[in-house]
Amino acid sequence: MAPKPKEFKDDFWKTKDFKISIGDIIQKEGTESTDEPLVPMGPTQKPNVTDLRSWDMKLLERYEPFYAPLCDMCCLCTYGKCDLLGKKGACGIDAAAQQARTVLLACCIGSAAHSGHARHLLEYLIDKKGKDFPIDMGTGIDIEAPIMRTLIGKTPKKLGDLKEALDYLEEQMVHLLSACHTGQEGSSIDFESKALHAGLMDNLGKEIGDLAQIVALDMPKGDAEAPLVELGIGTIDREKPVILCIGHNVAPGAGIMDYLEEQNLEEDLEVCGICCAAIDITRYNKNAKIVGPISKQLKFIRSGVADVIIVDEQCIRTDVLEEAKKNNAVVIATTDKMCLGLPNKTDEDSDKIVSELVNNQIEGALILDPDKVGEVAAKVAMKTSEGRSKVKVLPDLDEVVELAKECTECEWCDRVCPNSIPMMDAVMAASKGDLSQMQRLYDNDICYSCGRCEQECPRDIPIISMMAKIGEINLQDQKYNIRAGRGPVQDVEVRRVGAPIVLGDIPGVIAFVGCTNYPDGGEEVAKMAEEFLERNYIVVTTGCGAMTLGEYKDEEGKTLYERYSGSFEAKGLVNMGSCVSNAHIPGVAIKIANIFAKKPLEGNFEEIADYILNRVGACGVAWGAYSQKAAAIATGVNRWGIPVVVGPHASKYRRLFLGRTDKEESWQVNDLRNGEIVNGEPAPEHLLYAAETIGEATVMTAKLCLRPNDTSKGRQLKLNHYIDLHKKYFGTIPEDIYKFVRVQKDIPITYKRDIMKILDEKNWKPRKLPQEPSLMDMKGD
Ligand code: SF4
Ligand code: SF4
Ligand code: SF4
Repeated sequence: MAPKPKEFKDDFWKTKDFKISIGDIIQKEGTESTDEPLVPMGPTQKPNVTDLRSWDMKLLERYEPFYAPLCDMCCLCTYGKCDLLGKKGACGIDAAAQQARTVLLACCIGSAAHSGHARHLLEYLIDKKGKDFPIDMGTGIDIEAPIMRTLIGKTPKKLGDLKEALDYLEEQMVHLLSACHTGQEGSSIDFESKALHAGLMDNLGKEIGDLAQIVALDMPKGDAEAPLVELGIGTIDREKPVILCIGHNVAPGAGIMDYLEEQNLEEDLEVCGICCAAIDITRYNKNAKIVGPISKQLKFIRSGVADVIIVDEQCIRTDVLEEAKKNNAVVIATTDKMCLGLPNKTDEDSDKIVSELVNNQIEGALILDPDKVGEVAAKVAMKTSEGRSKVKVLPDLDEVVELAKECTECEWCDRVCPNSIPMMDAVMAASKGDLSQMQRLYDNDICYSCGRCEQECPRDIPIISMMAKIGEINLQDQKYNIRAGRGPVQDVEVRRVGAPIVLGDIPGVIAFVGCTNYPDGGEEVAKMAEEFLERNYIVVTTGCGAMTLGEYKDEEGKTLYERYSGSFEAKGLVNMGSCVSNAHIPGVAIKIANIFAKKPLEGNFEEIADYILNRVGACGVAWGAYSQKAAAIATGVNRWGIPVVVGPHASKYRRLFLGRTDKEESWQVNDLRNGEIVNGEPAPEHLLYAAETIGEATVMTAKLCLRPNDTSKGRQLKLNHYIDLHKKYFGTIPEDIYKFVRVQKDIPITYKRDIMKILDEKNWKPRKLPQEPSLMDMKGD
């Protein structure tokens, strides 16, 4: 009998870089049959909370947690409140550990949101298609589930196989959440290690969710030519009954599209969405439309366009019912995550539910059956739409001016705005008939319509409703195209670009992800993406970030999706899909390690992460990260060795991972080719970095694509972009450039003279180039 995976202890795996062909080593754990191909199994199949701790310690030693406490108090137990400023709490915890505990809690919440979503989807799809429904991603994708293969050590063949991975991650999440209890973990570093584990579980949960929906709902399978779909408030035909889906779970939206198709009603109703539910519905059926990212939510609800609002899970306004009531829209809640106090009508006859909703006998309904949601939503929308269109929901433009005149210039709106927006000036301008300031805040999502200012206004000025009305002035222009989410990168694409990425000829892979609480609107993000596309980087994107990139047009009226190819190649703009599709970002880095470098995946997390950290020039940009999911996503990709640049609001997550360039010893690497420990360089310099301005973010992103493995040609190219961008935004050659020149051949020709001058000043000496840089097998391992 083949040895159990864990019997291959460290000594075997410390010889990390010899090549093993699939099929050489052992039988997969849990497989009885000898017919199944044998796979090599690494040391960490189904890693427990502490199994990857030694890798975390390597990361955390190099990238020290930097805490920016948002609050010095803890009020988690009845010993408290405890003031932790320079003191310990009554349970003995100190401020750093408490901050790290809060980070872990956020990562647990975010990760649970994704895995709860995945669990819902999987149960629903197994119910619909059966547990034996094949996981077939088409001929272009052999590595269907790179994260699962690395962590679980198995390739899922059928929908039912995904359950094992979910069971595993749910068990891990219970342990992680339990560590947040009073009187458990007391070390900030160990809390961080657990947060990294929570992030990793987040990655796994997303992969399970997206894989299940791609195969069972026949979404694009890595299709670079996925269709362009409509995006923007202006694309919604307001003459038709409108169903709006808000949230992240495709199932209710798919139920609606199916019902419309069955009943030949596709032309008669509009189905649109906000947030990732929108993206995923368009992956399922291109006739659906995307209103936009989360920043559109309150404005669009207030506009009264939607007759029926379907809410599923995550990032939905919790006062949606109250808001919908203001304009007689009907709310249907569809998951156990958000029941809103509504009566559970899941088992009732559809027509009876419709009648109760239309006649206002119930204030909304909880329906946990996505197919029933489809029928009820369509029938209610058709019955209520005509009557509702007579309801005047927004003030007209004259009324907007009159309402603005109520302003007493108390400045409360400015003070409470999380984005420090000068709303009072905009309101005062409106009171004089000048609506341009409010329109500017609306058009570019500079105001992300959280509604705090309106809540605080002592004059009850309906600021969001006024903005929604002003936004209608140029409704016709708010029409865009976005490429439907294509899902993962195909293996064949990885084969084409793996070498140029690892060697540095393609300067980097930049992932634009996250929410839309941008400090100064979304246009900056689109311009940043354009900057990198023009410089031959590969740009990938998901979720609200993907929508933001679609909301800006060039002078010819084309969006980035219409200007750049959807292929995973230099100058390609790859919309992978929704939040759960985020899993394909570490997924493609894992595929590079496997396909290009032949690194075995199964049970082999640390070697794969080490490869990515040292050799795959990828960097995430979450300029508007807002939710706990974003915290989990960033922390998860960090554990794979992918750095992330976040926007200024992200300091509210409380923790960054910053490299210390002054500590030379922390940048040493092991050259696996000869086992020599050599002085390295701060590449990548940080794992999680908060930038204040878009210029700083752009420059840092280019810098964080540097990897110790770059060839001199690749390094020249990367440094060229780093310097170019630094000059563009700061007007100078970066002062730290000497740290990234290893040998003279690394110096970009265009800047040679300037750089040589800096090198002389710094008494620079050439360094040895490691052939196979690694953090593994360093002293202390
Ligand atoms: S958990 Fe500890 S720090 Fe927090 S309130 Fe309780 S005793 Fe105080
Ligand atoms: S809605 Fe929120 S983001 Fe917009 S101005 Fe008001 S407080 Fe600021
Ligand atoms: S809070 Fe209201 S009254 Fe005060 S400045 Fe803002 S809009 Fe004017």
